[in-house]
Amino acid sequence: MKEDIKSMTLQELEDMLKAMGEPKFRGKQVFTWLHRGVTDFSAMTNLPGSLREKLDARCFITAPVVVRKQESKLDGTIKYLWRLGDGNCVETVLMRYHHGNSVCISSEVGCPMGCAFCASTIGGLVRKLTPAEMLDEVLFTQLDSGLEISNIVLMGIGEPLDNYDTVLRFLSLVNSPEGLNIGMRHISLSTCGIVPRILDLAAQKLQLTLSVSLHAPDDETRNTIMPVNRRWSVDTLLDACRIYFEQTGRRISFEYAMIRDVNDTKAAAQLLVKKLKGMQAHVNLIPLNHVEESPLLPSDRASVLRFQQTLEQNGITCTVRRTLGSDIDASCGQLRRKYETSSANPI
Ligand code: SAH
Repeated sequence: MKEDIKSMTLQELEDMLKAMGEPKFRGKQVFTWLHRGVTDFSAMTNLPGSLREKLDARCFITAPVVVRKQESKLDGTIKYLWRLGDGNCVETVLMRYHHGNSVCISSEVGCPMGCAFCASTIGGLVRKLTPAEMLDEVLFTQLDSGLEISNIVLMGIGEPLDNYDTVLRFLSLVNSPEGLNIGMRHISLSTCGIVPRILDLAAQKLQLTLSVSLHAPDDETRNTIMPVNRRWSVDTLLDACRIYFEQTGRRISFEYAMIRDVNDTKAAAQLLVKKLKGMQAHVNLIPLNHVEESPLLPSDRASVLRFQQTLEQNGITCTVRRTLGSDIDASCGQLRRKYETSSANPI
């Protein structure tokens, strides 16, 4: 089987080339080509022809294909559906802000977590992405759109902490000065709350922003909308968040999708205040995006504002997230695998 060369770190590339009898500097040359989006060894023109052939015989270079590209007329958000090497598809969303362009990437094909309000989990998990496939989402979005990407959010399809080793490797690739060189402070990772992995991540002391999808302050409610809560309760999760802050000094961002009559009451806001007391936290209220297959509905504007007010009056910083790309189903929780996987059956 050929090796996935773009998932390799610079060090690993150097080691492989050294073992092939090549000088060390070749590693950096190959790494640079890969991270510029070159898809064929023959295009690596500063390498000797014989080396290009040897690499081609030993390794493959991933390259997703655009199956569909939709651009929002409202705000310029672009949603890509990519076909991966094995025929599976994932979505990536490019969002344009005043402070720069941000890309929302997927970490898995489908998702195993089963949250009641989310479209990505409807078909369950198909498979986890590789580091190269995650990197490609950033790389090829940038190449196709011609827009420079300065921020990354791991908030697309999948649970990043369910694909932990891959995600860590992806972070190191994208952070590499010889590659895209995107700083950790420009990266956010969102999790539904896999506590042991939050603690592992804390120990890495990375400067990325951890977003935690809380969506309810009590176990009774959270159990019904997020199955992960039956494994790790709200209090266990919040304890892990405190440790994360102690270890990294990074304020946690809590996501809270406002669901009508489920988690949007004054009592829920008050309990949330109590639970977050003393924590360095920011709450992001997201008006629920309606998913066709789900009976859950978005809260009305007045409830969202009342909820926000309760938090702010109690000293918890809180924003209501702007919904981008709503005309192209690109909003939070709306991404899903709509295409089947057969590569023998091109769309
Ligand atoms: N698995 C990760 C990241 C993917 S989802 C996580 O759970 O955090 C990114 C965010 O969108 C999460 O906060 C998720 O809870 C939220 N989300 C999912 N479905 C949604 C919906 N229908 N409306 C609003 N937010 C939603």
